Amino acid sequence: SYSLGPKISNWDAERKNWLDENPEFPNHMNGKARALLVTGSPPGPCDTQIGDHYLLKFIKNKIDYCRIHGIDIVYNMALLDEELSGYWAKLPLIRRLMLSHPEVEWIWWMDSDALFTDMMFEIPLPKYDKYNLVLHGFPDLFNQKSWIALNTGSFLLRNCQWSLHLLDVWAAMGPKGAIRDWAGKVLTANLKGRPAFEADDQSALIYLLSSEKDEWMDKVYLENSYYLHGYWAALVNRYERIMEKYHPGLGDERWPFVTHFVGCKPCGSYADYAVEKCLRSMERAFNFADNQVLKFYGFEHRGLSSRSIKRIRNETTTPLEFVDQFDVKRSVLGRS
Ligand code: UDP
Ligand code: MN
Repeated sequence: SYSLGPKISNWDAERKNWLDENPEFPNHMNGKARALLVTGSPPGPCDTQIGDHYLLKFIKNKIDYCRIHGIDIVYNMALLDEELSGYWAKLPLIRRLMLSHPEVEWIWWMDSDALFTDMMFEIPLPKYDKYNLVLHGFPDLFNQKSWIALNTGSFLLRNCQWSLHLLDVWAAMGPKGAIRDWAGKVLTANLKGRPAFEADDQSALIYLLSSEKDEWMDKVYLENSYYLHGYWAALVNRYERIMEKYHPGLGDERWPFVTHFVGCKPCGSYADYAVEKCLRSMERAFNFADNQVLKFYGFEHRGLSSRSIKRIRNETTTPLEFVDQFDVKRSVLGRS
């Protein structure tokens, strides 16, 4: 049957040895577990130029977040496994990165169509010390086997044997063609609310975890106290109100950490929403986030729908006088 690669069964011990022998590459730094943000897009151009332009904005946003928080980032455009195309491409990629980066403790996958909309918020990693997989999700929906019980657009997976095993089992429904088509029927028959279509990675994970609860769930954390993933349609019209009432750093409904454009496909192929509506909403979310970055340099967008910017502070001959006050990075590091 299908396999992601040679079976590895002693990764925890192998990795521990490696870490002991390579103290210059620690998996914890300054008391923090080392995380690697991983994202990517298809090898070829989008169907439209505007699609490629938005991919650029989405990666710009992630570079900003990672620079501010000192997180390394991988952008992948190669299809590592022919069989696992589309949304399944993240599985062989995550496995490959775990094996090539034993120093990384957490792989943080983020879809190309997700934006950081809280540039200050940091994931509370110590909270997940006892867990190996963290996703935005809801235990009650999970118990009902809802196909939206959790979201695989932004999640954390620990670099360990448990995760390699999970990836192996999870990938079983992925191979394109007959297997993926057949598996789609199984998923639609078993998951609440799922439309009929080929097997996708999110449905397959929900099905796997709920069929084998005892095997997996004690290491899975379904997070909903902040938006590790946030559904765009419920958020994009609230940004003005949010800016009036709150401040970045909260990460929850008051100032959503991530805005994910589920169902929008500006890069091409089928979308559930009108492309114009998607693009308008993405523009707002991008500018909302970009304002938090531009503020440091003394600028902001003229409005959430505007690409152009305006000055919010006067230039001065003594720029260092206030530099601490405006730097996002310094205020983030200063807090910890
Ligand atoms: N993706 C990728 N390479 C591909 C196709 C998709 O890296 O060839 C990534 C991309 O980041 C995308 C994610 O997989 O956002 C999920 O795929 P897709 O966009 O098809 O699903 P959706 O985001 O709508 O759930
Ligand atoms: Mn997505």
